[in-house]
Amino acid sequence: MGRLIIVKCDCGFCKDDYMYGINSSYPEENKHQSALAKSGHYGKRWQELLMKDPELRVNAEYRLYQCSGCHKLISEHCMDLYKASKDDDYYIPETNEVLYEYKHICPDCKKKMVYIPISQEHCLTGTDNPEELVFCPKCGNTVIASLCGYTD
Ligand SMILES: [Zn+2]
Ligand SMILES: [Zn+2]
Repeated sequence: MGRLIIVKCDCGFCKDDYMYGINSSYPEENKHQSALAKSGHYGKRWQELLMKDPELRVNAEYRLYQCSGCHKLISEHCMDLYKASKDDDYYIPETNEVLYEYKHICPDCKKKMVYIPISQEHCLTGTDNPEELVFCPKCGNTVIASLCGYTD
Protein backbone atom coordinates (compact mmCIF):
# COMPACT_ATOMS: atom_id res chain seq x y z
CA MET A 1 0.00 0.00 0.00
CA GLY A 2 2.70 2.48 0.94
CA ARG A 3 5.55 3.07 -1.46
CA LEU A 4 9.31 3.36 -1.28
CA ILE A 5 11.48 5.75 -3.26
CA ILE A 6 14.98 5.15 -4.55
CA VAL A 7 17.55 7.85 -5.32
CA LYS A 8 20.74 6.69 -6.97
CA CYS A 9 23.65 8.77 -8.26
CA ASP A 10 26.84 8.04 -10.21
CA CYS A 11 28.82 9.54 -7.33
CA GLY A 12 27.96 6.52 -5.21
CA PHE A 13 25.00 7.92 -3.31
CA CYS A 14 22.21 5.38 -3.11
CA LYS A 15 19.24 5.20 -0.79
CA ASP A 16 16.18 3.10 -1.51
CA ASP A 17 14.06 3.32 1.62
CA TYR A 18 12.44 6.76 1.51
CA MET A 19 8.85 6.23 2.63
CA TYR A 20 6.07 7.64 0.45
CA GLY A 21 2.32 7.80 0.93
CA ILE A 22 0.45 5.76 3.52
CA ASN A 23 0.59 2.14 4.59
CA SER A 24 -1.92 -0.21 6.18
CA SER A 25 -1.22 1.04 9.71
CA TYR A 26 -1.99 4.62 8.67
CA PRO A 27 -4.95 5.20 11.08
CA GLU A 28 -2.69 4.45 14.09
CA GLU A 29 0.16 6.44 12.58
CA ASN A 30 -2.20 9.37 12.08
CA LYS A 31 -3.44 9.17 15.69
CA HIS A 32 0.13 9.07 16.91
CA GLN A 33 1.25 12.10 14.85
CA SER A 34 -1.91 14.03 15.84
CA ALA A 35 -1.13 13.38 19.50
CA LEU A 36 2.45 14.54 18.98
CA ALA A 37 1.22 17.71 17.27
CA LYS A 38 -1.19 18.39 20.15
CA SER A 39 1.66 18.01 22.61
CA GLY A 40 3.68 20.65 20.77
CA HIS A 41 6.09 18.37 18.89
CA TYR A 42 5.35 20.22 15.62
CA GLY A 43 5.52 23.68 17.13
CA LYS A 44 3.34 25.94 19.22
CA ARG A 45 1.17 27.14 16.34
CA TRP A 46 0.14 23.61 15.32
CA GLN A 47 -0.55 22.77 18.96
CA GLU A 48 -2.81 25.82 19.37
CA LEU A 49 -4.65 25.30 16.08
CA LEU A 50 -5.43 21.67 16.92
CA MET A 51 -6.50 22.46 20.48
CA LYS A 52 -8.76 25.30 19.36
CA ASP A 53 -10.52 23.43 16.57
CA PRO A 54 -11.34 19.75 17.21
CA GLU A 55 -12.45 19.34 13.58
CA LEU A 56 -8.94 19.89 12.25
CA ARG A 57 -7.14 16.75 11.13
CA VAL A 58 -3.51 16.19 10.24
CA ASN A 59 -2.34 14.72 6.96
CA ALA A 60 0.27 12.27 8.23
CA GLU A 61 1.16 10.72 4.87
CA TYR A 62 4.87 10.38 4.11
CA ARG A 63 6.27 12.79 1.56
CA LEU A 64 9.69 13.40 0.10
CA TYR A 65 11.29 16.76 0.91
CA GLN A 66 14.55 18.32 -0.23
CA CYS A 67 16.41 21.14 1.48
CA SER A 68 16.69 24.24 -0.69
CA GLY A 69 20.08 24.95 0.88
CA CYS A 70 22.14 21.81 1.52
CA HIS A 71 20.06 19.37 -0.61
CA LYS A 72 19.38 17.04 2.29
CA LEU A 73 16.68 14.60 1.24
CA ILE A 74 14.24 13.15 3.76
CA SER A 75 10.84 11.55 3.90
CA GLU A 76 8.63 13.02 6.59
CA HIS A 77 5.01 13.14 7.63
CA CYS A 78 3.34 15.94 5.68
CA MET A 79 1.49 17.39 8.72
CA ASP A 80 -0.72 19.80 6.78
CA LEU A 81 -3.99 20.56 8.59
CA TYR A 82 -7.38 20.12 6.95
CA LYS A 83 -11.03 19.58 7.73
CA ALA A 84 -12.31 16.15 6.82
CA SER A 85 -15.03 16.07 4.20
CA LYS A 86 -15.60 12.38 4.87
CA ASP A 87 -15.04 10.01 7.74
CA ASP A 88 -12.38 7.72 6.37
CA ASP A 89 -9.35 6.69 8.41
CA TYR A 90 -7.26 6.42 5.25
CA TYR A 91 -8.40 9.73 3.77
CA ILE A 92 -5.76 12.03 2.28
CA PRO A 93 -6.98 15.60 1.62
CA GLU A 94 -7.00 17.28 -1.77
CA THR A 95 -4.78 20.36 -2.06
CA ASN A 96 -7.80 22.69 -1.93
CA GLU A 97 -8.98 21.16 1.36
CA VAL A 98 -5.76 22.00 3.17
CA LEU A 99 -6.20 24.93 5.54
CA TYR A 100 -2.71 25.17 6.98
CA GLU A 101 0.43 24.04 5.22
CA TYR A 102 3.15 22.74 7.49
CA LYS A 103 6.55 24.28 6.72
CA HIS A 104 9.33 21.73 6.70
CA ILE A 105 12.68 22.97 7.89
CA CYS A 106 16.00 21.25 7.24
CA PRO A 107 17.26 19.56 10.42
CA ASP A 108 20.85 20.35 9.39
CA CYS A 109 20.95 23.90 7.98
CA LYS A 110 17.45 25.15 9.01
CA LYS A 111 16.57 26.24 5.46
CA LYS A 112 13.17 25.61 3.91
CA MET A 113 12.53 22.13 2.54
CA VAL A 114 10.70 21.69 -0.75
CA TYR A 115 8.05 19.04 -1.30
CA ILE A 116 8.97 16.64 -4.11
CA PRO A 117 5.70 15.36 -5.55
CA ILE A 118 5.70 11.99 -7.26
CA SER A 119 2.51 11.43 -9.20
CA GLN A 120 -0.17 9.70 -7.13
CA GLU A 121 -2.21 8.59 -10.15
CA HIS A 122 0.77 6.69 -11.38
CA CYS A 123 1.57 5.03 -8.11
CA LEU A 124 -1.98 3.74 -7.69
CA THR A 125 -1.77 1.75 -10.92
CA GLY A 126 1.41 0.07 -9.72
CA THR A 127 2.44 -0.46 -13.34
CA ASP A 128 4.16 2.80 -14.15
CA ASN A 129 7.32 4.02 -12.56
CA PRO A 130 6.70 7.68 -11.78
CA GLU A 131 9.81 9.68 -11.14
CA GLU A 132 10.92 13.16 -10.33
CA LEU A 133 14.20 15.03 -10.63
CA VAL A 134 15.99 15.92 -7.41
CA PHE A 135 19.49 17.02 -6.44
CA CYS A 136 21.86 14.35 -5.24
CA PRO A 137 22.31 15.02 -1.50
CA LYS A 138 25.99 14.07 -1.79
CA CYS A 139 27.33 15.73 -4.99
CA GLY A 140 24.49 18.09 -6.00
CA ASN A 141 24.01 16.71 -9.53
CA THR A 142 20.50 16.21 -10.86
CA VAL A 143 19.31 12.66 -10.29
CA ILE A 144 16.06 10.75 -10.53
CA ALA A 145 13.90 9.84 -7.56
CA SER A 146 11.56 7.01 -8.48
CA LEU A 147 9.13 4.71 -6.78
CA CYS A 148 10.81 1.37 -6.32
CA GLY A 149 8.80 -0.86 -4.03
CA TYR A 150 5.93 -1.35 -1.64
CA THR A 151 5.59 -1.30 2.11
CA ASP A 152 2.69 -3.16 3.75
ZN1 LIG B 1 19.72 21.83 4.69
ZN1 LIG C 1 25.80 12.32 -6.43
